[in-house]
Amino acid sequence: MNTLESPRRAAFLDRDGVINEERGYAHRIEDFVLLPGVVEGLSTLQRAGYVLVVVTNQAGIAHGYYSIAQYEAFTRHMIEQLAAQGIHLAAVYHCPHHPGGLVNELKVDCECRKPRPGMLHRAAVELELDLARSVMIGDKRSDIEAGRAAGVRLVALVRSGHTVAASDAAAADVLLPGLQEAAKWLVEQDGVRNADPPAAPLPDQSHADVG
Ligand SMILES: [Mg+2]
Ligand SMILES: [Zn+2]
Repeated sequence: MNTLESPRRAAFLDRDGVINEERGYAHRIEDFVLLPGVVEGLSTLQRAGYVLVVVTNQAGIAHGYYSIAQYEAFTRHMIEQLAAQGIHLAAVYHCPHHPGGLVNELKVDCECRKPRPGMLHRAAVELELDLARSVMIGDKRSDIEAGRAAGVRLVALVRSGHTVAASDAAAADVLLPGLQEAAKWLVEQDGVRNADPPAAPLPDQSHADVG
């Protein structure tokens, strides 16, 4: 589609509470309700050259609340609803696991469940993304931590209607009402001096100044 310089940068997006209303293990198509300003926000990111990648914890599959097929139908619906409004999701990654799950093969302590960065790492390889130039937008502490662990440049926390703990707000780079505001803020940061990618360290300094 586009031929931006490679590797590309991504906007990693949590799903529930960022794109669609948080409804607690949402999996029925009728429970997919786009939050206000989402199309505008995603459009802003897209125009700025961000590849849009959804990364969603789906422990409901491990818990047996819904099936992979139901999850996939919900995902197709989301992709189609957004595509109809000119938004292209490059990929949607999900973690179906939970250490306390009922479904035996999904009852694992995996590397992909946020706050771990496994989904972002996988996306970086599969989509040829530059994590250091990418951003994360989420509504929970686990989203912030996954972004940090993956080494993305900026992490935005959105309220999307619910209360946010002060400690979570402090852990993010910014706290904003929703995706539209977060997208605008993130794109504005491109004009900030320190938006330039850092120069490669000299070989003999690469291990210096840790922490
Ligand atoms: Mg969420
Ligand atoms: Zn997982």
